[in-house]
Amino acid sequence: TYVVTDNCIACKYTDCVEVCPVDCFYEGENTLVIHPDECIDCGVCEPECPADAIRPDTDADMEKWVEFNRKYAEIW
Ligand code: SF4
Repeated sequence: TYVVTDNCIACKYTDCVEVCPVDCFYEGENTLVIHPDECIDCGVCEPECPADAIRPDTDADMEKWVEFNRKYAEIW
């Protein structure tokens, strides 16, 4: 899965939302998140983010971001 990380907070461009083929972005007041179970790992959103906030969960230390994305995707 891909996840939204801290560069998105208080930034929240929505270029990524527009390209996602499965609509798995969820929008809160200050940031966006990706639902980790709905993301199909296509990667098209990653280069669209002007803040470089979208990372694959295979990067180092991504566990807390996967949990953050899952938690808020389910609330929002
Ligand atoms: Fe959507 Fe693909 Fe990005 Fe996952 S990797 S959030 S499916 S655009």
